[in-house]
Amino acid sequence: QRNRAVEAILSAVQGGESILLVAHVDPDGDSLGSAIALGLALRTLGSRASVSFDSDPFVVPRSLTFLPGQDLLVPPALVPATPDLVVTLDAGSLGRLGALGRVATRARRMVVIDHHASNTRFGDINVIDADAASTSVMITDVIDALGVELDHDLAVAIYTGLVTDTGSFRYAATTPAVHQLAARLLATGIRHDLITRTVWDTHRFGYLRLLGELLGRARLEPEHDLVWTWCAFPDLTRAGLTLDEIEGVIDIVRTTAEAEVAVVCKQGADEVWRVSVRSKGAVDVGAVCTELGGGGHRFAAGLTSSNPLEQTLDSLRDALVRAPRLPV
Ligand code: 5GP
Ligand code: MN
Ligand code: MN
Repeated sequence: QRNRAVEAILSAVQGGESILLVAHVDPDGDSLGSAIALGLALRTLGSRASVSFDSDPFVVPRSLTFLPGQDLLVPPALVPATPDLVVTLDAGSLGRLGALGRVATRARRMVVIDHHASNTRFGDINVIDADAASTSVMITDVIDALGVELDHDLAVAIYTGLVTDTGSFRYAATTPAVHQLAARLLATGIRHDLITRTVWDTHRFGYLRLLGELLGRARLEPEHDLVWTWCAFPDLTRAGLTLDEIEGVIDIVRTTAEAEVAVVCKQGADEVWRVSVRSKGAVDVGAVCTELGGGGHRFAAGLTSSNPLEQTLDSLRDALVRAPRLPV
């Protein structure tokens, strides 16, 4: 499938066809980094591929504004209505493309490149590797196969995806090959220290106070082996922050020793709850979230719910209690 994808991309480039690269809704460093890396590589080959994603408003998350190649970005309203080729990056299902899902289905051809085990294989060509540490690792493979030299800007975009999805090389998917790729990327001269600091360790002052509030109201439920907290939309606006700026809260909540599963529920301006779910390895939260209409990886997953918070949590508690325990 990798080779078929490369052939489809090359033939679109050679035919001067319109190519649209799509990241998932409210893109993270892996999704946007992968899309931009591929976009930059295609530009080297002479294609004018554009990159888009659905998010309201259409802005690059604060922590990713350092990414190169932002001139490739086109808002959903301005993308070609029927592109010749669409490539989706880091999206496990068509729904994860948001409004761009419709454009993707109208494309003459759709290539899906992703590392979610829950991927629904919604493309014409599906390159899925659930063992890949990030989609950006898979994109490096594609870029190598396209014969494009891995330069500094490509390395910044790829490294951003890698450092995002491995939690700075801490998660189990961090293999020797991951470190070898990191070495190759560092050799291009990227400021990996600045990338990591911007992606993980930079917040506006309002975050400190909001974080205090969210942690202060966290609930431990031993009967469900669960720790959770929530951030309603008014909490967010009072702090003067946006949703992308509180992504790191789950990384603190999940350090709770007494709970296997950690949950953070974040409400957007649309009143919809974005639920982040993490486990320490004994529960496949990817399967749990897929059952509830979401998706993700085995130990890092999520779902979206328009129901009231308590109802969403109740279905989650119920699914968690039924979930089989895995050996750790
Ligand atoms: P996060 O909690 O960081 O937003 O997401 C963790 C993982 O769960 C990511 O791999 C992401 O793709 C997946 N995920 C989060 N929310 C959703 C959702 O609403 N639907 C699906 N299918 N996957 C989600
Ligand atoms: Mn992602
Ligand atoms: Mn990813």
